[in-house]
Amino acid sequence: MTTAAAVRAAARAAEEADEAAVIAARAACTARAAADAACTAADPVKRCSCGNVAVHQWPLRLCSDGRIKRVLHLCALCDIALNLHMLRLLGDPQAGAKAADYAGEWFASNSTTGE
Ligand SMILES: [Zn+2]
Repeated sequence: MTTAAAVRAAARAAEEADEAAVIAARAACTARAAADAACTAADPVKRCSCGNVAVHQWPLRLCSDGRIKRVLHLCALCDIALNLHMLRLLGDPQAGAKAADYAGEWFASNSTTGE
């Protein structure tokens, strides 16, 4: 393995560990939020840029942004719209059908729309 490849592998491992820790912490917080006011205070309700309560998050590291980790908080509708946009950007010929299926599954399995 070259030095550059080793550096990339180490960076990837660090990112994965970091993201796994964030996911685990958030899951633990969410699980007890209903009964634990302290947890709610430590993890206040996140809002989508449209103003709705966020129910999804997309961690992003953009090369043009110095790979700074940013987390995009999204309501259900914006998440579906972003999924559709990304599928189209990736050239998926089934983008519309996939996004529609995703939207249908999401709303069928969730009693809230994120409003
Ligand atoms: Zn939104």
